Amino acid sequence: MVQAILRRCAVCRAYTLQKDRCPHCGGRLENPHPPRFSPQDRYQEYRVAIKVMSGIIKVRDDVAERVLRRLAQSYI
Ligand SMILES: [Zn+2]
Repeated sequence: MVQAILRRCAVCRAYTLQKDRCPHCGGRLENPHPPRFSPQDRYQEYRVAIKVMSGIIKVRDDVAERVLRRLAQSYI
């Protein structure tokens, strides 16, 4: 992964290419870029259900039924 070189001061919110301290106020610098993926992973349930339906993930029949029933309930 490419390391981000742009930094933002946590105190005065100024952007800089410095790595250690803000050149304006001496404040702590932070990475201004938002994370690429949400750690909540809102669609995991759907991804797993699709893989179970397509046979990519092999599970017992009763587990597959439970996964598909849960998916069907979320559409009601
Ligand atoms: Zn600053």
